Amino acid sequence: MLKLITDFDRKKNDIGRKLSYRLGILKPEKTCLLCSREPFREGLCRYHYEALETLRKTYLEWNRREGLTWSEYLDSIAKLKTTGKWILDLVKNRDKLDNILSSQ
Ligand SMILES: [Zn+2]
Repeated sequence: MLKLITDFDRKKNDIGRKLSYRLGILKPEKTCLLCSREPFREGLCRYHYEALETLRKTYLEWNRREGLTWSEYLDSIAKLKTTGKWILDLVKNRDKLDNILSSQ
């Protein structure tokens, strides 16, 4: 219990800042390229970054099996009904993310 309280105490500024962003009281100095969340890596928030990682990992498999190019792969992903929202955001905004997505 004490550990929980100490942990919370250590994180409360961070929690407060994040909560303020969510509530629109504070605006992050920089935002994700695709949404208004705080950037995590490569200019993307945690969710979009995780989607990017998934996209990259899956590409290796598709490229091995189907021999698709990166661009063909993104086109196919966009057409799949099962593609998740975060990944679709990346694929649909390909033009905004040129330097991230084309670096494959
Ligand atoms: Zn985002």
